[in-house]
Amino acid sequence: MSIKTLREYITEAGEKGVAIGHFNISNLEALHGIFSGAQSLGLPVIIGLSEGEEGFVGTDEAVALVRTLREKNNYPIFLNADHHASFESAKKCIDAGFDMVIIDCAKLPYAENVALTKKCVDYAREVSKNTGRDILVEAELGYIGSGSNIKDTVPEGAGILTDPEEAKRFVVDTGIDLLAPSIGSVHGIIKSGKPHINAEVAKNIRESSGVPLVLHGGSGLRDEDFTNAIKSGVQIVHINSELRLAFRQAVEKTMQEMPEEINPVKLLTPAVEAIKAVVINRLKLFNNLNQ
Ligand SMILES: [Zn+2]
Repeated sequence: MSIKTLREYITEAGEKGVAIGHFNISNLEALHGIFSGAQSLGLPVIIGLSEGEEGFVGTDEAVALVRTLREKNNYPIFLNADHHASFESAKKCIDAGFDMVIIDCAKLPYAENVALTKKCVDYAREVSKNTGRDILVEAELGYIGSGSNIKDTVPEGAGILTDPEEAKRFVVDTGIDLLAPSIGSVHGIIKSGKPHINAEVAKNIRESSGVPLVLHGGSGLRDEDFTNAIKSGVQIVHINSELRLAFRQAVEKTMQEMPEEINPVKLLTPAVEAIKAVVINRLKLFNNLNQ
């Protein structure tokens, strides 16, 4: 098969009423687990690195790893700079060869969010024009919390949903390709239970903004929240905390079972499998494949 652009896969997902899975990595084990899970279902997949994860893996190293998998297997695997907070950090990823960046300045006042986001969009367009690449820019409007970790309760301020009219204005003002609105989910796994996705607000934002939506904070959501969100115009779903949890639990179990083992291959292979299992489970749900 010939690989299409990420933009084309996103459009296709919208037409089919499904979503592309976005999974974060901070090591090679996660990358192998995610790729192998997506490949077993033949679905396109996006690998994400936050600023912290990118610092740990290496910017150019991440590009080389994903590019190698893409070219060697002729497979639609893409790379996203997840939640980058400055123009410089987003630019660094664009220059290095990332397919997509998320400029995250939702905490700033509206005008500053627009100015910084637009600067990234303009830069991505310029590089795309000069190189023949098609770099996508996503931005955030509304508070969805931060940190892919385990939280006791929903953080303060989360739960204020994005206004569809403001979303429309934001897309016009910035020219972004994808929007991450606040529609009920928050980053991390919430011990006391995740809030529900407001599918009606999502649908209104999708219609008024005219761009595909991206769901962040997917870890721990109920299945019907995912399916309702996807039906309402979400075309990419982010999963991070669930993979981190699966990794940790698999490593802990293996270390208990093999107290004398020192070979990382043996210690970490079950973690790759655990991540693969989460990815398969999530992708089946996002693509209406029988579970
Ligand atoms: Zn996120």
